[in-house]
Order: sequence, then C-alpha cells, then structure tokens
Amino acid sequence: MALIVQKFGGSSVADADRVRNVARIITETYRRGHSVVAVLSAQGDTTDDLIAKAKEINPNASKREMDMLLSTGEQISISLCAMAIERMGYQAISLTGWQAGMLTDSGYSNARIKRIRTERIQKELDKKKIVLVAGFQGINKYDDVTTLGRGGSDTSAVALAAALRADLCQIYTDVDGVYTADPRTVKGARKLEEITFDEMLELASLGAQVLHNRSVEMAKRYNVNMEVLSSFSGNPGTKVKEVIKTMEKTHVSGVAKDKNVARLALVGLADQPGIAFKIFSLLAKKGINVDIILQSIGRNESKDISFTVARSDAEEAKRVLEENKEAIGFQTVELNDRIAKVSIVGAGMVNNAGVACKMFEALFSAGININMISSSEIKVSVLVDEREADRAVQAIHDRFFSEFGSNA
Ligand code: ADP
Ligand code: ASP
Ligand code: MG
Repeated sequence: MALIVQKFGGSSVADADRVRNVARIITETYRRGHSVVAVLSAQGDTTDDLIAKAKEINPNASKREMDMLLSTGEQISISLCAMAIERMGYQAISLTGWQAGMLTDSGYSNARIKRIRTERIQKELDKKKIVLVAGFQGINKYDDVTTLGRGGSDTSAVALAAALRADLCQIYTDVDGVYTADPRTVKGARKLEEITFDEMLELASLGAQVLHNRSVEMAKRYNVNMEVLSSFSGNPGTKVKEVIKTMEKTHVSGVAKDKNVARLALVGLADQPGIAFKIFSLLAKKGINVDIILQSIGRNESKDISFTVARSDAEEAKRVLEENKEAIGFQTVELNDRIAKVSIVGAGMVNNAGVACKMFEALFSAGININMISSSEIKVSVLVDEREADRAVQAIHDRFFSEFGSNA
C-alpha cells in the first residue's frame, strides 16, 4: 500500500461532470488500497474571473486582499470534490491551506512554502479518509492567507508529497504529459516518456506552463517521484526524474516560448568601469530580476547595454533608469515590450556546438530575425519579435523533431 499525492488542474475540475471524473480517479486509486491526498486547483477560469472582479472594484487592491480573494477558488473545488466522493460512498475531508498546515513566508501573491505541519493530514489519513487539499494557498506568520503565484498548485502538491514522504506525486492535467513543445500550438509535438528534473526546470522556467517551475525545483531537491498525465485519456504520462535512459545522447528535449518578456536598451553609456554595477544594483534594489544581458563593444569611449526583464517590471525598470540618468550617464533608454523569448532545452548541449547552429539555421530559413541570444549548459534562448514567436517555435521544432530533422 502506497501514499499517493494527486494534483488536478483547473480544466480537470471545470464543471460538475469533471469534478465527478476526478472523484472517480481518486476513489479508484483508494480502492486499490492506497492512501490518497489530492490537491485541487480552482475550477476552469475562476482565478482569472476573480482577478477581473477585483479590478472592477479596485485596480490597485492590496496583495493581502487579493490573496484572500483568490484563495476562495480552490476552496470551491475541494469542497465540491469531497461531496462527489461522499456521494460515491467513500469518506473524504477537504482542508484549506491553513488546515493542511502549509506555512509560507509572508510574501503575498508569490509566497514560498517554508514548512508543512502534516499532523492534521496524517490524522485524517489514519482514519482512512481521502484528504483533499486546496492548492495554491498557505498561511503566513501573521495568520494571513497567502498564495503561491500563478500555477502554484503544482508546487503545493510536490511540497505535500515531499513532506509526507509520498511514494508518488501525480500531476493530472489537460494534456497527456510533457511534450517536445506545447501540443496545443505546435504541430507534430511529441509526448516524452521521461524527462530529467533539470530539463523540466528549464522548460518550465522558459515558458512551458505545464508545470510550475518551483514544483520541479522542489521535486528535484527532495527527489519526489513525479509524473504528469491526463485526467481525461488514461494514457501513460511523462515521468520527471533525476536520471533518464537517454542521458548520454546529446539531444534536445523541447522548445518553449515566453511572451512575458521586455527588452530595455541603454544607449550612449561611458565605456568605463562601474557602469554595469550602477545599472543593475539600482534594479536589484527595486527587486527587478534581469535575464539576458548584452553589452556592445566600446567605441569612441561609448557603449550600449541591453537587457531583458519580465514585462510586468518593464515600466518600473525604465522609470528607475530615467530617474538616475545623470548618475548612470547615458543618452537614451529604449523599451521594447513586443518581443518573445524562444528557447531549446536539452542535456548535453554544451558538448555539441551544432545544436545552436541548427536552431539559428531554422530561424534563418523561416526569415526570422534574432534580437538577442543567450545560452547555458542545457539551453539556448533567442529573442524574436512577438508576432514571429509562434512561427519561430514551429520552425525550430520542425528542424529538431520532424521526421526529416534529426534530434542531435
Ligand atoms: P493545469 O490547469 O492542469 O495546471 P496548465 O494550463 O497550467 O494546466 O498546463 C497545461 C497546459 O500547458 C497544456 O494545456 C498546454 O497547452 C501547456 N503546455 C505548454 N508547454 C507544454 C509542453 N511542453 N508540454 C505539455 N503541455 C504544455
Ligand atoms: N488557480 C491558480 C491559478 O490559476 C493556481 C493553479 O491553477 O495552479 O494560477
Ligand atoms: Mg498549471
């Protein structure tokens, strides 16, 4: 008999039939003799709808009140699912993040789980109950409700699996597993039988929303046995693990796209020491994360620096730089928020110069201009015009994964 944590995303619980379907999956697992803790997301577009409701009342509502509001979505799902399970003749109990002992830091809207007090869940499991936990929420040291950031229910599930030392953490969603690219938008995307934590973490961080990136980080840290599968099809999913069979081969496991990107360019900086330090310390003080950075070669004692930030931080970053124009010393700052980042991810890339080249060739053949490039051991990212992003992903995916392309 095993302890299994199962997580069901928003589309998996979108209406009454789907809640019943989820209740069936949970009770079948229970009937096979396992203990089950299920983590649920808010139904369908509930979280977006709640955000819209808040905006109608106050577009600048405090993060504390937003968390209080958004946490209600998940509570609807767990109580409805508990009712569906009761109706099927099994004992279930729904618990909010607070009742389930999810203790987070105090950062409203993007809180991090610090610890889970598992006693209550354990007590309910000992009574042979199926436990349903509200995803995406916790409680901070002020006894306030916090949320974990969009898509955070995956992280609730993995954190619970780690804390309870569960045998398996199953992330049920609306696609059959992790694919080589988003199967909804990329023709020919293939399901991966397995993927390493490192590759999955990169894919998730670079825009593949199928898993919350912090859930993968946590699964790697606590070596959680994790799989992604569909609530609808019953097909085998994708195993996410430390080591996979194809490790030795140089390969690309996937292509991801992220539109939440903006580029800032500082033109006419002095070509002298300390400039980069001034710029990036000003941004760091405001808590603005910088991603790709490019500095031009100095000419006539002048140079340019461009870098990317999340789109939601772009206006603030520009304002901070303009306010410090004299202190930094530049001519102009330009903002472009019509760009997207397209990336390939794969272990072993570092030993194969040809991989990046193949990606650039695919973009060249599609007539797509590259704005910026960055690479690491397991990924290559390019910035392209937002309007070209989907075509770029398709062209790159075709080059690596079509019958005629070779994935090496
Ligand atoms: P849930 O509500 O179950 O958490 P999400 O919408 O957060 O589901 O994530 C699932 C979606 O992720 C899929 O419907 C798919 O469109 C998208 N997606 C993006 N990249 C990938 C990928 N590489 N593999 C699978 N799905 C992906
Ligand atoms: N309901 C939350 C969201 O829409 C959390 C989640 O679905 O994981 O972001
Ligand atoms: Mg999700």
